[in-house]
Amino acid sequence: MQPIDLRSDTVTHPTPEMREAMARAAVGDDVYGEDPTVNALEALAAEMTGKEAGLFVPSGTMGNLTAVLSHCGRGDEVILGTQSHTFLHEAGGISALGGVHSCQIPNQPDGTLALEDIRAAIRTEDIHHPVSRLLCLENTHNDCGGVPLSGEYTRSAAEIAHQHGMAVHLDGARLFNAATALGVSAADLAAPVDSVTFCLSKGLCAPVGSVLCGSGAFIGRARRIRKQLGGGMRQAGVLAAAGLIALEKMTLRLEEDHRRARLLAEGLQTVPGLLLDKGMPLTNMVYLALSEAVPLSAFRIADRLREDGILVGPRDARHFRLVTHYWIDDPAVEKTVSAFRAALS
Ligand SMILES: *Cc1c(COP(=O)(O)O)cnc(C)c1O
Repeated sequence: MQPIDLRSDTVTHPTPEMREAMARAAVGDDVYGEDPTVNALEALAAEMTGKEAGLFVPSGTMGNLTAVLSHCGRGDEVILGTQSHTFLHEAGGISALGGVHSCQIPNQPDGTLALEDIRAAIRTEDIHHPVSRLLCLENTHNDCGGVPLSGEYTRSAAEIAHQHGMAVHLDGARLFNAATALGVSAADLAAPVDSVTFCLSKGLCAPVGSVLCGSGAFIGRARRIRKQLGGGMRQAGVLAAAGLIALEKMTLRLEEDHRRARLLAEGLQTVPGLLLDKGMPLTNMVYLALSEAVPLSAFRIADRLREDGILVGPRDARHFRLVTHYWIDDPAVEKTVSAFRAALS
């Protein structure tokens, strides 16, 4: 039996339709720019994010790294959130590989960076200072509970950066979840920023890949950086074929995942000992905390759930993150609530 895997939406397997499209995909050498399926994916991604051009990359991490290295030189500074994926979960790549300095400012509970904090972080002209070159935002904000950031907020933050000659990059790993939750288009949310990445391989179910989008000139630079990082792939059309279905079809069904996240949260809220750590989910992530009365650790509870065929992600000894996706149906939600109830009783 397939486990009910709520650890992340990265665990999603490709759909049967994707597997068929992958088998049939027209391919070519993408480093030569000759893979028609990759070219089609990049064009569609650019159109859907409202940018001139797109670049298919193997992962979201490489998409963000490529973006930062395309915007910044060694010793330049990027302003980002203390809870941002790029700061916390990308192995320090921007510093290790790009020599890019980071200025971290606190994320607010709603995933935003306070506008006054951004203003205060921007360096003045002084030879002692690194040059503030880039502002990075994240939408949805993963560690802040999968919260969507409004286009209005993004516009205000980007305006400050642009006034100071800085560029803005949006880590939109789950940009389409944000757009769905807010009832706007991905292009609306990305309009104020200079570059944006989103993942095909999370809630959109493709097996591999992200797309970085921006102006034609920016993507031209990014194409060289991707090659430098070893991310130039050859007959990548077999992967892009799944990505096309991800964009054309899977973006249309994300509300189902959000509805199930709410259903899961409502159910788990009734289990004694469980608290919704970051409120009712707005997208596909449910963050849970154990109340002080619970003697078991989150790791121990996760072990018990595993015996029932349910995989959840303990974040530490007292917290979990559960993520809904294409392969989680209504019965899986019910079973998960029952299993938590049994494990805690
Ligand atoms: C998953 C994720 C990434 C990176 O994606 P990978 O494909 O796992 O490298 C970047 N940003 C955020 C917010 C993410 O959740």
